[in-house]
Amino acid sequence: MKGLMQRRDLNVSDILRFASKYHTQATVTTRRADGSRVVYTYPEIEARVAQLAHALRRRGIAAGTCIGTLAWNDHRHLELYYGVAGVGAICHTINPRLFREQIAYIVADASDTMLFVDPLEMPVLEPLGAELKGSGVNTLVVLGADSDVPQTALTTHLEVLSYETLIAGEPTTIDWPRFDENEAVSLCYTSGTTGHPKGVLYSHRAVILHGYSTNLPDFFGLRAVDVAMPVVPMFHVNGWGLPYSAPMVGASLVLPGPRPQAADLVDLIATTGVTWSAAVPTVWLGVLERLRATRPAIPQPLRITVGGAACPPHIATAFHNEFAITVNHAWGMTETTPCGLFNQRKIENKDMPLAEWLASQRRQGRPTFGVEMKVVDDTGAEVRADGASTGEMLIRGPWIAAAYFKSRSQDAFTADGWFRTGDVVTQDASGYFEIVDRTKDLIKSGGEWISSIALENIAVAHPAVEEAVVIAARHAKWDERPLLLVVLKPGRTADKSEIIDWYVGKVSRWWIPDDVVFVNELPHTATGKLLKSEVRNKYSDYIITNAQ
Ligand code: AMP
Repeated sequence: MKGLMQRRDLNVSDILRFASKYHTQATVTTRRADGSRVVYTYPEIEARVAQLAHALRRRGIAAGTCIGTLAWNDHRHLELYYGVAGVGAICHTINPRLFREQIAYIVADASDTMLFVDPLEMPVLEPLGAELKGSGVNTLVVLGADSDVPQTALTTHLEVLSYETLIAGEPTTIDWPRFDENEAVSLCYTSGTTGHPKGVLYSHRAVILHGYSTNLPDFFGLRAVDVAMPVVPMFHVNGWGLPYSAPMVGASLVLPGPRPQAADLVDLIATTGVTWSAAVPTVWLGVLERLRATRPAIPQPLRITVGGAACPPHIATAFHNEFAITVNHAWGMTETTPCGLFNQRKIENKDMPLAEWLASQRRQGRPTFGVEMKVVDDTGAEVRADGASTGEMLIRGPWIAAAYFKSRSQDAFTADGWFRTGDVVTQDASGYFEIVDRTKDLIKSGGEWISSIALENIAVAHPAVEEAVVIAARHAKWDERPLLLVVLKPGRTADKSEIIDWYVGKVSRWWIPDDVVFVNELPHTATGKLLKSEVRNKYSDYIITNAQ
């Protein structure tokens, strides 16, 4: 039609160009592994990103190629977000805490050709050299200078070089190529599903619209004067989109670097002027303890977002009353880019007394514009929005996955275009959602997934074990931890430590069940299926109760 708007595709490189052009004084501060800091402005970051883009092109990286990262929140990872997407390739972020076999699977599934790895995470890749080569990886770039490249046997299989050497001498400007906004920019695997981890592929359009939406005042509401510290790892759903949404408004970033501890975070908050931050509840519990112990001066107002797992009810009250820090609860998923719900006031509750409002942060919140939710029962019928009726939350919108990468497992997607979250919720008449259960048999410990099925399979492979079930037991620090219930074979014996030892070397240490309960039998349905819900009802408080 004549006389309409320009058709200009939304491209991720525009975000950095914008920040670099109009927010020249805003900064990106990174905490290095040794505790020192490095500060760049957005124009400096864009210059380094241009160098990276030239280096990638020189190595023949073409549009659509996946490039893997095992990296923490730092400026080089930020540069990869933009440099890789800027040349049309796909930045595939990998969680270094996954077990080796899962990492090997993910790298092969994505067909990564280059891997960029934090020096601290080199030991994760060390045993995988031949496997990586076999799956198509040819280059390993260590995120640092030459002096950060450790001695490694990986050179037998791969070219190994430092990031600074890779980009050195490349031009610091570039005419960013343009792409269809529906092309992919990044890939993130979720293990929050049964079976192998599944890839979720994000487009330019999805991450930019998600950025606009999360920057609305009733969501993260970032402004140019803000200093945002994403503690949520950049390997976990694009760090909740902050690497895109903060520069989109010209906000400064503080990136807490590799494996940050509560003391590091409190130090960064107190000394870099952080005004906004986001992390999983376990992190905030640690920060709260640290604040109580050290009572640092925090002159600036600070807002924090809790998400990724349920916000313990006392957190909002404690942060507010003891430190004048504002807490909001958010919900999201890898499949939803990730943000969908945010717990902020609205007209109905604008005068709700503060104590009541703080307590209400146990709810995940209300939808932001762009996503649509519905809550359905087993037959697919919508349940009443009365704050009590429960059902599975379905979601749709321009930043919600339409399928998994390589289109496996379509069970999670309905024929009429909804994604099944697997979260069981209530919705009240004002549109606030609260998660009450999960349809998936998975455990979320400190914001990271543990597969109960994988743990059950290992348990039943033990010669003395007849039947086993693993459930998510509530935990004061980690939100949930795996609890194993075991039925022994007739005439066989085994004690707790023997069963726990059985897991060593078979899964990451943090996957190993916290406790083992020996039972004579487990409940089953009429068709012989294990009745996990009954086990959960009976034992979900087992760890909390026994810790007291
Ligand atoms: P992930 O894809 O790893 O980000 O995990 C998404 C899942 O984490 C959701 O489906 C929920 O089960 C859980 N989750 C995320 N945010 C929250 C929250 N605020 N409260 C409770 N569970 C949450």
